[in-house]
Amino acid sequence: MKNAKQIRNEFIDFFKSKDHEFVPSSPIVPIGDETLLFANAGMNQFKDIFMGLSPAQYPRVANSQKCLRVSGKHNDLEEVGKDTYHHTFFEMLGNWSFGDYFKAEAIEWAWELLTNVWSINPDILWVTVFGGDQKDGLPKDEEAAKLWPKVTSIPADRVLAFGKKDNFWEMGETGPCGPCSEIHIDLGPDMCDMKNIPDHKCQVNGGCARYIELWNLVFIQYNRQPGGKLVPLSARHVDTGAGLERVVAVLQSKPSNYDTDLFMPIINRTAEISGHEYTARLGNKTDNAFRVIADHIRALTFAITDGATPSNEGRGYVIRRILRRASRFGRELGMHEPFICKLVPVVVDCLGNAFGEIAERADYVSMVIETEEASFGRTLDRGIEIFGDAAKRAQKSEAKIINGEDAFQLYDTYGFPLDLTELMATERDLKVDTAKFDELMEAQRQRARAAQKSESLIASLTNVELPVTEDTHRYHGDSCDGRLIGWIDNEGFKDQGRIETGAQVGLVLDRTCFYAEAGGQIGDCGFITSDGAQFIVETTIKIANCTVHRGKVAEGSFDVGQNLKATVSKDRNATKKNHTATHLLQWALQNVLGKSVAQQGSFVGPDYLRFDFTCPKAPTKEQLKEVENLVREKIAADMPVTWKVMPKEQAQQLGAMALFGEKYGSEVRVVAIGAEDQGQIGDAFSREFCGGTHVDRLGSIGGFKIIKEESISAGVRRITALTGFGLNDYLEKASGIVDELSVMLKVPSEVLVDRVNQLIKDNKQLSKKLKSASRATGSDAMAEAKRFLDNCEKVGETHIIVGRLSTFSVEQAREAVDMLKKKAKSAAVVLGFEDDDKATLLAGVTDDLIKKGLKAGEIIKAIAPIIGGGGGGRPQMAQAGGKKPKKINDAIAKSVEIIKEKLGA
Ligand code: ATP
Ligand code: MG
Repeated sequence: MKNAKQIRNEFIDFFKSKDHEFVPSSPIVPIGDETLLFANAGMNQFKDIFMGLSPAQYPRVANSQKCLRVSGKHNDLEEVGKDTYHHTFFEMLGNWSFGDYFKAEAIEWAWELLTNVWSINPDILWVTVFGGDQKDGLPKDEEAAKLWPKVTSIPADRVLAFGKKDNFWEMGETGPCGPCSEIHIDLGPDMCDMKNIPDHKCQVNGGCARYIELWNLVFIQYNRQPGGKLVPLSARHVDTGAGLERVVAVLQSKPSNYDTDLFMPIINRTAEISGHEYTARLGNKTDNAFRVIADHIRALTFAITDGATPSNEGRGYVIRRILRRASRFGRELGMHEPFICKLVPVVVDCLGNAFGEIAERADYVSMVIETEEASFGRTLDRGIEIFGDAAKRAQKSEAKIINGEDAFQLYDTYGFPLDLTELMATERDLKVDTAKFDELMEAQRQRARAAQKSESLIASLTNVELPVTEDTHRYHGDSCDGRLIGWIDNEGFKDQGRIETGAQVGLVLDRTCFYAEAGGQIGDCGFITSDGAQFIVETTIKIANCTVHRGKVAEGSFDVGQNLKATVSKDRNATKKNHTATHLLQWALQNVLGKSVAQQGSFVGPDYLRFDFTCPKAPTKEQLKEVENLVREKIAADMPVTWKVMPKEQAQQLGAMALFGEKYGSEVRVVAIGAEDQGQIGDAFSREFCGGTHVDRLGSIGGFKIIKEESISAGVRRITALTGFGLNDYLEKASGIVDELSVMLKVPSEVLVDRVNQLIKDNKQLSKKLKSASRATGSDAMAEAKRFLDNCEKVGETHIIVGRLSTFSVEQAREAVDMLKKKAKSAAVVLGFEDDDKATLLAGVTDDLIKKGLKAGEIIKAIAPIIGGGGGGRPQMAQAGGKKPKKINDAIAKSVEIIKEKLGA
């Protein structure tokens, strides 16, 4: 039996033998196509060729395209697991002719491959052709209908005609389009999954799983113009697509795509982890969970590899939905701990040889998935309970509908995407009030919007068409002349009048050399002047195609229509250095850490640069050093920086790096480092889609240093670095500190580190010594005090214990007083000690003496002046401090007198 890999290769080899060029799949996250969330057909990457926007590099190509059908026009998410042949992620095998061969060859070769090379029984194949459309004034595709029985062995009665819905392919509202011919396979009556539907008849396009579409051949021969009119194209193209998973199931004689070697290893591993068994039955809950999980992990692995990450918006939310769905199906198999992440290596085993990128980024993908799984896992079980309650309420209601409030709570608090709630509802034959859900969602959005500190200038601009600013000058110089055509203030856009001194507004000029904030680079600041008037630009932003210079009229006034001079602040030179350095940094990081490094965001300003990138684990110190060195080498080599505006296709072919998720138009600007001029951009070592401002040669960057490397979220790291003057300032400050330390420690700077290390070590040792020393004096103090007791004077049963301790710790002295009081039972104690230039006296009296009128506080009060201080305390214990340690003995002598007097001795 052939495995999937062989089958994929046979397809490609077959078309290579027909002079086709193999072209790798484009990323599943389309680069620079804002109309599409994910690649959903092989033709996506060739769109511009079909539209005549860019020339074809090869007249014939073939490939296997990574497709994801989870959103927009093509969404097969709901079918996944319920049937055996619709996936979210699948590979589309395709062959293309760009203005080269047409219907005859496409039909003949498809048939040859299926029936000859792959030996599929021709008697179970059916084909369809376009049957015409009255409204469009399109005739039946007779050409194809005639060709099928002519160039293949299929009898004419198995060539069926269908309408526009099935057999006319259009890219969108406008653009290239044409009739198509599909090849379907009859898998036999047993495969019908609609037997219990009354009046169901198994047939091509009949909806059941007995007839499955294998291959679609699209003949692009018209262009639909705005307004709907179709005009024939001068160049006619072929675009075909065959689902690899379906072909593999047929060639491996499996009743389901899931039974093939593309899915079974994943299912088996899931069985191992969960302890459940897969029995391949359709309509069975457990088996369905196996299929959904196997499908979704493939989608996740590919999408995350190509740059999508779970989030709350756009692509990210699609990924989050798929992941949460899989996670919830995991509960059906009793899995409560993260498990999806454990399946990534299996997907890599199955497909890593055809798509090397998933092997390269496997660790990163597992980590992203695990983080997201763990976070959803924390609320999932509780969410399932909440859903259960909501479902019970719905079952009792007449409409059998889960109310919108419940669905919203599940979304908002428990992270259940609406489609997950809907899916769970369908499992119980319930519906969800999505209208109410949408309403609540919108209300929340509005609240969020209101909470956002609205930028008043922009908020004032509803329904205004702003002028377009001519801003090409920003790449050429720091000053230019322009004319004031209006301004924006809190009331909106004004195109006539005068702006007075002090006004805070946004100036709009017909042309400018100011760079408006974009692509991580901050907006320029600077000045706009005319005779006697000056406007200080604090920042520059772009609204639609209008450049707005925000700031304040510092002097004089401005009239609309007036000629002005715009001058960008010198800060921009520093910004340029940082921007070019950011490109160097990305290049160096990829060199050192591998291709898994992809830009996630950046900040480029005059003071520093910040670069966020994906990276499974923290780079080591050595790796960061290497990155720094690579950047510095390039700066030292003073290589040139050039840029060129070119069609997006061409930029992609050059391998220019784009930011995932960033929207690019059909023309893009490519900034290249290392090519002498625009014509040699192919020689550059770094090429990036970028609209920013850059230095002309690397030498002027002056220097480069990473000052911080940190993690900002799962799998994403952040580097902060300096160049030029910013770096000088930093180094200046740092060397100032070093100089100061050198003077303080009286050593040359080279040995500072050793010296400080030594100091730290000494300090540790000293404090250790001190601790043990004080412990020793602690017991010494006690022994001393005991000696005072042994030699003390007695009045009756009462001990008068006095003396000078050699300790200098109040605690120890207090302990000594307490100890003496206890030991002597009846005692008046006065102890003193000296510490540096200070004297301390302590007195303690036992309770029996207090009754007789002897109080420690009073003793202390009386003797404190002798040591030049003051003090006091309770009758039992009191303390004094003074500045005359030499007088301690006098004070003690005096205390004895006082005590004796009180005791009547
Ligand atoms: P179907 O009607 O079966 O959904 P389709 O008309 O949407 O197919 P096309 O858009 O023509 O399919 O895509 C070309 C080929 O890609 C199909 O013939 C089929 O083999 C395969 N294919 C399409 N959608 C899927 C999917 N969700 N999962 C797996 N293969 C698919
Ligand atoms: Mg479909």
